[in-house]
Amino acid sequence: MNRRIKRKEARVDRLAERLRRQSRKVTGPRQSILEILRRDSHPLSIREIFQALPEGEGDLATVYRSMHLLEKMGMVKRFHFGHGGARFELLAEGDDGHHHHLVCTQCSQIVEIDECFPESLQDKIAARNGFKAVTHKLEFFGLCPRCQ
Ligand SMILES: [Zn+2]
Ligand SMILES: [Zn+2]
Ligand SMILES: [Zn+2]
Repeated sequence: MNRRIKRKEARVDRLAERLRRQSRKVTGPRQSILEILRRDSHPLSIREIFQALPEGEGDLATVYRSMHLLEKMGMVKRFHFGHGGARFELLAEGDDGHHHHLVCTQCSQIVEIDECFPESLQDKIAARNGFKAVTHKLEFFGLCPRCQ
């Protein structure tokens, strides 16, 4: 089984339990937002989350505030794909959410990637520059099969 599927299962199992534990803070729109993120395996933009939100559960500003809080609580992870602003994914408990994406520059389709930048190469870069505790953020861009 690949990491992506495991990640998805972990977050589905544990979401209800986490919501119970943190229920005082996860109310109304925040709960709906987590449910929206749970249903989708790809990172969603603030606007997409807002559009999926049941009517009357909040405006765009509510979604902005909620994402900020959920990020601070460690329940969502923020990704950046250049233009188009931040996108968010639900974070499985105990998972740092480290993974990468392949983004179509034409239609903005996003593919979840299991491969990671080789640790040996990262260690080499760290050692050569005298750095410690090096990590990375990395997204790939190209043309998807449909857009070629
Ligand atoms: Zn495309
Ligand atoms: Zn992802
Ligand atoms: Zn990586």
